[in-house]
Amino acid sequence: MTAEPTQCTVVQDRFGREPSGYRDTVIPAARPAVQSLPAYRPGKGAAQAEKEHGITNAIKLASNENPEPPLDAIVAAVTRAAEGAHRYADHRATAVRERLASWLGVNVEGVTVGSGSVGLLQQLFLTYIDAGDEVVYPWRSFEVYPVYTKLMGGKEVTSPLNAAHSFDLDALAQAITPSTRMVLLATPNNPTGTALRVSEMRDLLAGISPSTVVVIDEAYREFLDPSFGDPVHELVPHFPNVVVTRTFSKAHGLAGIRAGYAIGHPEVIASIDKTLFPFAVSALAQAAAIAAIDAEEQINERVGRILGERARVISALKGAGWTLPDAQANFVYLPLAGDADAIYFEMEKRGVVTRPFSNEGIRITIGSVQENDRFLRTLAEVAKPR
Ligand SMILES: *Cc1c(COP(=O)(O)O)cnc(C)c1O
Repeated sequence: MTAEPTQCTVVQDRFGREPSGYRDTVIPAARPAVQSLPAYRPGKGAAQAEKEHGITNAIKLASNENPEPPLDAIVAAVTRAAEGAHRYADHRATAVRERLASWLGVNVEGVTVGSGSVGLLQQLFLTYIDAGDEVVYPWRSFEVYPVYTKLMGGKEVTSPLNAAHSFDLDALAQAITPSTRMVLLATPNNPTGTALRVSEMRDLLAGISPSTVVVIDEAYREFLDPSFGDPVHELVPHFPNVVVTRTFSKAHGLAGIRAGYAIGHPEVIASIDKTLFPFAVSALAQAAAIAAIDAEEQINERVGRILGERARVISALKGAGWTLPDAQANFVYLPLAGDADAIYFEMEKRGVVTRPFSNEGIRITIGSVQENDRFLRTLAEVAKPR
């Protein structure tokens, strides 16, 4: 039986809408906080740069990713987990927490797992920031801090970095007042690569109210000189207001998997846990996290290769006459002021995609040996050392 096509008369509903099309309709307005949000700008991919410039062979040194693909053992664990993907994963990621706790030497109640450390950062904002609350962070720093602050309707209070593109502790201490609800310290800092010593953080904490949450964002922990100290063992046990966030995205090469963790006082951790949206940490991410901890030795070897390349890139840059801030993560930062955009663009046209910060500088991820050589060659073509 074939149905006769029905003749449709255009009728308007009581809001004046016609059955098809968006003509003359009212679009729901986003919350003012959302309307004012800058969109998070991820680093540009190599494929996009190739398309934009009509080139081939572009390399991406823009997102601080690991140049090496995940270890075979991690891929195998993720594949096994995928076989059970018709089931929801453990919402609390209990096995990961237990493994993390014994690995880190902390109590299991003091550790939680999130959808990347940016997931945990968002949970921290959801947990502690009401409209109008003050959030303090040095600037320039990680770009999600202003995004999350605005999203919650919080008040952004920034303190400048010093002339060496590092933390200005006096300026930071001045920006923090009893009405500060949260302080965010990315150390090593993104994008400058400079880091804070635990002793400096301890001095800062002495002047911070115990009701202010202090987030120490250690996404690049594994690349940091160990002499800077370990806030998980040296600060968390003494300061219940300190939360340390870490990730499997950078050193462990699992950026696409989304697994991060946080260490803090059990009550703080329990509060953060309430804001995890259901099943945010996938079964694949949980399997990858455990496999990554199991493979610590091989991960350390990879980190060692990146540190070796970082040292080589730094000495090549310094040898050529460049001055750059202390690089404690898996990237280097070139302060270029007003020339940042032009130099970024010239390198991108030549297939080397880095991360520009308009009128400030560019951040270049340490990649493979070949990628780093190409960056150094290309930079020499397009910019005079300064
Ligand atoms: C890359 C980065 C993160 C984290 O990332 P996830 O992939 O969400 O774990 C967090 N903080 C800073 C400062 C970063 O640069």
